[in-house]
Amino acid sequence: MLFRRLLPATALAAALSLTAACGGASDDTLAGKADDGELTIGIRFDQPGLGQRRLDGKYVGFDVDVAKYVAAQLGVDEKGITWREARSADREKLLASGEVDFVVATYSITDKRKEQVAFAGPYFETGQGVLVRFTEDDITGPETLNGKKLCSVTGSTSAQKVKDQFAQDVQLVEYGQYSDCVIALLAGNVDAVTTDEVILAGYVAENPELLKLVGTPFTTERYGIGLPKEDAAGRAVVSSAIEKMVGSGEWRSALERNIGQAGVELPEPPKVTEK
Ligand code: GLU
Repeated sequence: MLFRRLLPATALAAALSLTAACGGASDDTLAGKADDGELTIGIRFDQPGLGQRRLDGKYVGFDVDVAKYVAAQLGVDEKGITWREARSADREKLLASGEVDFVVATYSITDKRKEQVAFAGPYFETGQGVLVRFTEDDITGPETLNGKKLCSVTGSTSAQKVKDQFAQDVQLVEYGQYSDCVIALLAGNVDAVTTDEVILAGYVAENPELLKLVGTPFTTERYGIGLPKEDAAGRAVVSSAIEKMVGSGEWRSALERNIGQAGVELPEPPKVTEK
C-alpha cells in the first residue's frame, strides 16, 4: 500500500477518508496495508538459504518462505509482494519511513532495536559463528582471532559483539553485506568472517571446498519479523501467523527445503514471545 506514503498530507487525509467511506481500510496497521492485496517486504538478496535474489529473478530462502506465509495469512499472494533489499544497517530506516511494510531479514530481536521497531516472533534461533578459508589452520574459534582481520557487516549485532568483546585484539573490517565479506575472505583480504552460523553455513554450502565454519556459536540470536514500532496489532497478527506456520508443519518443511543442505543442525522452532 505504497500510495499513502507518496501523497502530501492533505491529499492523504482526503484519500484516507475516501477509503474509509468506501468501506476500505482506514488504518495504518499491517492488516490495513494488506487490504489492497499488496505488500512491500524487506528481505536479504545475498544470503543463500535465507534470502536470495537468484539470477533468474526469483526470490528464495527460509526468510522468503516465512514472509510469503505471513503475507498469505494477510490475504496477499506472491504476485502481490514487492521484495525490497533490507541490509543490516537499513532495516530500522526502511520500517520508519514506510518503504517496507515488514522485514524478514535475519533480524535479531534486541532491546536496543525495540526502541525503534516492533518485533513479532521469534521464528528462528541461531548463534554467532566464525567462517574461515578451508585451508586455515590457526583460527579455530573466536578466541583465536587475536591480530587477525575479521569481517562483519555494519549495523549487525555481529559487528557490535566484536566491538564489545574483541575490539582490543581484532581488526574489524565492516562491509554493507555478508557476501562482500565472503569475497574479501576468498581473496585473502580478511582472515575470517563473523555473523550468525546459519548465514555462514549458507556460504559454506555454496563453496564447501573453499570455506569452513570453526568453533561453536557464542551468542544467541532470535530472529524476529520487524514492524513499525507503533503497530501492536500488526505484531499480534504476524506472531499468530508464525505460530500457525509452525503448527501446520510448513515451518519445518520450509526449513528443510532451504537450510537442509547447509550442514547445520536444524533447530526446533522457538516459542513465540512477542505478541
Ligand atoms: N542477526 C544479526 C542481526 O540482526 C546478524 C545478521 C544480520 O546482520 O542480518 O544483526
